[in-house]
Amino acid sequence: MDKSELLRKLPKIDELLKEEIVEGYVKNSIRAEVIAVLRETIDGLRGDILEGKTVSLAKDDLMERFARNMEEKKKPKLRKVINATGVVIHTNLGRSLLNEEAVRCVEEISMNYNNLEYDIKAGKRGSRYSHVEEIITKVTGAEAAMVVNNNAAAVMLVLNTLSKGKEAIVSRGQLVEIGGSFRVPDVMAFSGATLVEVGTTNRTHLYDYENNINENTGVLLKVHTSNFKILGFTEEVSVEELVELGREHKLPVYEDIGSGTLVDFQKYGFTYEPTVQESLRRGADVVSFSGDKMLGGPQAGIIVGKKKYIDKMKKNQLTRALRIDKMTLAALEGTLRLYQDEKIAVEKIPTLHMILSRKEEHLARAEQLVGKLRAAADGFSFEIGEDYSMVGGGSMPEERIPTYVIKVKAEKLRSDELENRLRLSETAVIVRVSNDEVIMDLRTMFDRDFDIVADAFRAVAEGI
Ligand SMILES: *Cc1c(COP(=O)(O)O)cnc(C)c1O
Repeated sequence: MDKSELLRKLPKIDELLKEEIVEGYVKNSIRAEVIAVLRETIDGLRGDILEGKTVSLAKDDLMERFARNMEEKKKPKLRKVINATGVVIHTNLGRSLLNEEAVRCVEEISMNYNNLEYDIKAGKRGSRYSHVEEIITKVTGAEAAMVVNNNAAAVMLVLNTLSKGKEAIVSRGQLVEIGGSFRVPDVMAFSGATLVEVGTTNRTHLYDYENNINENTGVLLKVHTSNFKILGFTEEVSVEELVELGREHKLPVYEDIGSGTLVDFQKYGFTYEPTVQESLRRGADVVSFSGDKMLGGPQAGIIVGKKKYIDKMKKNQLTRALRIDKMTLAALEGTLRLYQDEKIAVEKIPTLHMILSRKEEHLARAEQLVGKLRAAADGFSFEIGEDYSMVGGGSMPEERIPTYVIKVKAEKLRSDELENRLRLSETAVIVRVSNDEVIMDLRTMFDRDFDIVADAFRAVAEGI
């Protein structure tokens, strides 16, 4: 059949609406959506015909194509993917995963009325922050705490509260961009604080801060340079020194520590990353950090420190616009409680567990997955090798965590084509490509997903 004849044979929407499968979908979903998918299916066929591809216009094949499109349409747009990149806190793939306890808390709170802003004992209005404040102060040792939408919001709120219309002094070496084009100086500008940059990129001294303090100074700021390191001839002013200077001039010291881990990773053989407890112990008046980076909880910005400053922030009108949702609060409480016992936190919080899991654990897992892959798909070579995982999320940029990976080569596909097809699988499998090999890192993959990955390879093999 030539192209024009095939095109003429394409069925009409009205005709297809009488098909049993289509009627079934109309009954169980939205008619307009079914019609749109029918149109899409026919348009797809028309496109294939015009490109000279072999198409079948048999009813069964057509209906199968339609049903596939319909199922795709019904899937949520925000959906699960498999992270085989080995980047644990992958910002594009949802950062930290919630632990089971946190998920149970979210379910309970979101499906029921709750005491979000209700004081059950007193029988009157309560504070949405009270629920997590107790556990945050307990695990960090802070005097007071509050939480907002994310750490960017926390930076804005802290600066707006402590330094609106005033000057905030910060080292030039700490004016970082954190990805997603979040730039410390820009957020500071939105806060209404005037940024006073002191020192140079590589060296800032205490006198640089001191010489710039005047009657209009509002806060001394220190930003943790999460995602980069300045090496060589460098000098940074410590929190303790800033605190001493702040005391002399009656100025608060605020440290944005970014990742904000509560666990001392040095203990586990990792590079130094400032902990929240340490920053507070050193005397910082206010400290802020992310909920979904190394803490391993939901997206949130956590602010801890002196009660007199935290109280001011709670009363700041901006807080209403930056406020945290009940589901996040529930997840945060469910995460922070685990930190009462570090052993339990490390075991149950996926982010911590993944970062700290030993390379050896992943060898047997790699072997198991390779077995499944070989059984599922021909035309590939699967080889186990050693490589490095990354923490991600702009945290510990230099840390390379030894791991086991599976290196894949396809006989008939280039690596970038294989990467593309795995990504477009029923469940997207996100891999790395390096040296013309597809790399899958076991550290960020779950055993429960091994069959899905095998299915993805089977489908790719069938499609070559
Ligand atoms: C990541 C980061 C932020 C932004 O935190 P979000 O929770 O992503 O909004 C701010 N400051 C520093 C130093 C960071 O590392």
